[in-house]
Amino acid sequence: MTESGDSTEPGGLFDSDRIRSAVYDILVSIGENPEREGLLGTPNRVVEWYRDMFSGLRSDPEEILNVFFEENHTDPVAFTNISFNSICEHHLLPFYGYVHVAYVPKGKVIGASKISRLVDVLAKRPQIQERLTTQIVDIVYRCLDASASYVFMSAEHTCMTLRGVKKTNSKIITSAQRGVAQEVKQLIETIGLSKS
Ligand SMILES: [Zn+2]
Repeated sequence: MTESGDSTEPGGLFDSDRIRSAVYDILVSIGENPEREGLLGTPNRVVEWYRDMFSGLRSDPEEILNVFFEENHTDPVAFTNISFNSICEHHLLPFYGYVHVAYVPKGKVIGASKISRLVDVLAKRPQIQERLTTQIVDIVYRCLDASASYVFMSAEHTCMTLRGVKKTNSKIITSAQRGVAQEVKQLIETIGLSKS
């Protein structure tokens, strides 16, 4: 079996019945009565939440960037403060925050909605923040044939804030870059300008 989390290819089928009965079993296992009124609809609600939270497993992220505009533009482009929600694969707890995505095009430019969609498809999978960051930077660099790409991500992990060490307000920051160092520097400066 391969480590499917490292691949960006679409995963297997979504089995609602199996999730429903697993959640039912968890409720029994913690000593609850899944038949009491407040819990009757819980397995179904979890199914609907999982359907959305893991919907990225059934989309191909590279396909999203197949729809680009051919444009002779070679200056930095940055998409800032894109919000995202993801699920930490170690605890199945949410982590969420924002991401800046920037690139220097070399003939292919892309719309803001495609970048947001790319972030969503990769975030809505069991993830770790480090891998999410590098998957975004790699796909933008490769699929747009960019001369540089840069991603900066800031996220709050509920597995850190609600359990274990319980560090409220702490954030994890990750960044990744691909391509010519001088151009990456331009990308970082362009994002910096958005904060003023
Ligand atoms: Zn975690």
